[in-house]
Amino acid sequence: MAILGIPRNTIAVLQKYQFHFQKKYGQNFLIDTSVLERITRAADIGPEDCVLEIGPGIGTMTQYLAESAGKVVAVEIDRALIPILEETLASYRNVTILHGDILKVDISGLAKEYNGGRPLKVVANLPYYITTPIIMGLFEKNVAVSGITVMVQKEVAERMQAQPGTKDYGALSLAVQYYARPRIVANVPPNCFMPRPAVGSAVIHLECCEVPPVEVKDERLLFELIRAAFNQRRKMLPNALAGAGIPGLTKEMAAEALRELGIPDTIRGERMSLAEFAMLADRLCTR
Ligand code: SAM
Repeated sequence: MAILGIPRNTIAVLQKYQFHFQKKYGQNFLIDTSVLERITRAADIGPEDCVLEIGPGIGTMTQYLAESAGKVVAVEIDRALIPILEETLASYRNVTILHGDILKVDISGLAKEYNGGRPLKVVANLPYYITTPIIMGLFEKNVAVSGITVMVQKEVAERMQAQPGTKDYGALSLAVQYYARPRIVANVPPNCFMPRPAVGSAVIHLECCEVPPVEVKDERLLFELIRAAFNQRRKMLPNALAGAGIPGLTKEMAAEALRELGIPDTIRGERMSLAEFAMLADRLCTR
């Protein structure tokens, strides 16, 4: 089978099947072999690995993954792509194609079925309309995943990696950094895709933490505080928290807890580190 990252081969497959791109599925297929090589290198895949690919499209990246991994399980929502994938990936014995919506798939079940319950590596050129639910779903549902290497919108990659006090820092930065160590691997311009997306893209590698970098008594409260802080990010933190409707939490209690921690009660959430949010959550959970 021809290598699909080369534009003329991709066009030939699309024409053969008279495939029509579906905007609602975020279909922008990769047509740049050097980007494909960088993604696979960053994912650090070997014969011992089982890779979950989300949205294989016509199988372009799947071919690269199948060359290095022991096993690839690819989940594609668009039924029209399934017969195409069956042809483009026919020569790979280590690829399983599944038709489904990744947001509804039991990923832990896939890890059990295809990898004896051991963690999967997730690699994808993600559909941008559901980037955050996919990534947060992997983290929050405690799915067995050791690393996530994905193409996302450039701004989203920057937000995931952002540090306190920067304009990109927010709830997504804290959530991602609670579960993983993010590293932007490459910036990718629109001309590397067919059709071209309206936005710039970036490949980000998230190395999943075995234990979170901070210890906290009540994880749910930690994320409630983070969400509340950034829902009203221009407000001072005690005001933002008091306005969020967290049961039993007043502005005065938040201000006092901050002062006890040696943090000025005039601080805004955008200056608080993950460790500081964790300390605040611990103070407030015994209130
Ligand atoms: N991996 C291919 C590539 O790099 O050329 C295609 C990437 S394209 C950006 C995103 C792919 O995800 C499309 O094939 C699309 O149909 C698929 N997709 C969109 N929503 C999905 C979902 N909820 N579950 C599984 N696949 C989905």
